[in-house]
Amino acid sequence: MRLRADGKGMTSTRTRARMIERLRENGIRDEVVLAAMQAVPRHIFVEEALESRAYEDIALPIGFSQTISQPFVIARMLEELRRGREMQEKPLGRTLEIGTGCGYQAAVLAQLAQEVYSIERIAALADLARKNLRELRLSNLRLTHGDGSEGLAGAAPFDTIISAAATPRIPPVLLQQLAMGGKMIFPVGDEEQALCLVERTPRGTRETWLDPVRFVPLRAGVE
Ligand code: SAH
Repeated sequence: MRLRADGKGMTSTRTRARMIERLRENGIRDEVVLAAMQAVPRHIFVEEALESRAYEDIALPIGFSQTISQPFVIARMLEELRRGREMQEKPLGRTLEIGTGCGYQAAVLAQLAQEVYSIERIAALADLARKNLRELRLSNLRLTHGDGSEGLAGAAPFDTIISAAATPRIPPVLLQQLAMGGKMIFPVGDEEQALCLVERTPRGTRETWLDPVRFVPLRAGVE
């Protein structure tokens, strides 16, 4: 099997370093987040015809009308999730990702979390992610085929919940699966969306609205 992680030219470590430099120029300040993104080869998560564009700061198609997220937006979400937890070695703790897609963000999360549970509703994408992630051998990552709008009760509570799909209203069951002191980040909205950070504190939940974004919709059920 050809190990695409060893690819040269447009897919080299240097090309990836240029992507990281661009993220820094565009305002990402958290070096731990940037290091996690430098550690994951994004080109192995896109089809070969798109490999040469893998380190551009854009979302790309992955089939089934879905996309691999834009690196800048992933970096922004991770920066918010790590804030206040800077002293922890695995700052995201137990993490749930909703919407595995091709598996790229799951691999980045695995650098920053103790344990990552990632759930995808489209079986063919869950299989694709499994295949893409195999060569990275991430022992703290578990993939599930299912409907993430129900969370993952068997693995709850989570210190971090991150969604790669947008919804007009965050499913309340997810808040129940968030640990005390935990943080959840969600693209909220329909045509117009913004990132919403939800923190669970002993005094209740705190919501903070962040950047406007454009994500694929969260859908119920599996296929
Ligand atoms: N995490 C990916 C982005 C995937 S796009 C990355 O690393 O770039 C968002 C994904 O969410 C799509 O694959 C879509 O099928 C999935 N999705 C949408 N609704 C879902 C749900 N209810 N449960 C699980 N996955 C869902």
